[in-house]
Amino acid sequence: MRILITGGAGFIGSHLCDRLLSDDHSVVAIDNLITGSSNNISHLSENKNFSFIYHNVADYINFSDPVDAVMHFASPASPSQTAPTGYLQLPIQTLKAGALGTLNALGVAKKHAAVFLLASTSEVYGDPLEHPQSETYWGNVDPIGPRSVYDEAKRFAEALTMAYQRTHGVDTRIVRIFNTYGPRMAMDDGRAVPNFIHQALRETSLTIYGDGKQTRSFCYVDDLVNGIVALLESREHHPVNLGNPHEITIMELADAINKITNNTAGTVFTDGRTRSDPQQRQPDISRAEELLRWQPCISLQVGLQKTIKFYKDKLAAHK
Ligand code: UDP
Repeated sequence: MRILITGGAGFIGSHLCDRLLSDDHSVVAIDNLITGSSNNISHLSENKNFSFIYHNVADYINFSDPVDAVMHFASPASPSQTAPTGYLQLPIQTLKAGALGTLNALGVAKKHAAVFLLASTSEVYGDPLEHPQSETYWGNVDPIGPRSVYDEAKRFAEALTMAYQRTHGVDTRIVRIFNTYGPRMAMDDGRAVPNFIHQALRETSLTIYGDGKQTRSFCYVDDLVNGIVALLESREHHPVNLGNPHEITIMELADAINKITNNTAGTVFTDGRTRSDPQQRQPDISRAEELLRWQPCISLQVGLQKTIKFYKDKLAAHK
């Protein structure tokens, strides 16, 4: 297949490029590099099945070559209050990537009768009142809160995708991605995993926002990519959760990272939480298990070790 991936230079997008190329597909990545990085795809520059287009998906995507699938992954995704690449610093761009970007990417899929896959998010559930979250839950989102620029953009993107499926018969998929981590997350991305690893490798205290009792469920990126490919190959139009149901508190995550890195500086409590930072999050993945025969198989311990090694090597290379 010839596959167009928006956000192809991003964290998940670049892993997806690698996987699809190794499955012998040809891949075109589109990215404007505001949150992605050319470093994530530089190893692909000699690959004759890979090409890169520097473009903002919020602008019309003029793509006339035939394409079999369009995967829309372009969007800022970090809720950090301070990171320059977080969606709170890029509110309008985030809304445009989710709204206009999805419209333009769907337009390309429609023109070429290609499969369309939308990268949606667990954030469509907001600060959930149902636990764990299954695809039938409609969510608890503040439509004008700080996170709304991301949450509502993705909710609109889902609505638009379903409308193109129902109205124009576009063959669509929607994946709701829960917390994912792994190599290539930007070190200054501001999310818990890269922040904690960065802090631990510098032997400083890990910054716990709030009381650290809020929970998340962290999925290693290779597991996620396996699920995305399985969804692409399925015929499922309705949203499918992908994530690791192993739920832990943020305090437990910090302790695990301190232990693996032998960081003795411990943790420090700070007031970094954004309003409407979800108190708990855990995917119900029974639909993915049933429809795709998919389950994550990389434990947090192993995934963190691989991720920490990536950052260690990166820091060593910069010394
Ligand atoms: N968090 C934290 N310290 C950090 C970064 C994040 O305690 O340095 C907390 C954050 O408040 C949230 C959780 O970790 O409750 C997960 O945050 P992240 O930014 O990774 O993503 P989210 O799941 O909120 O989208």
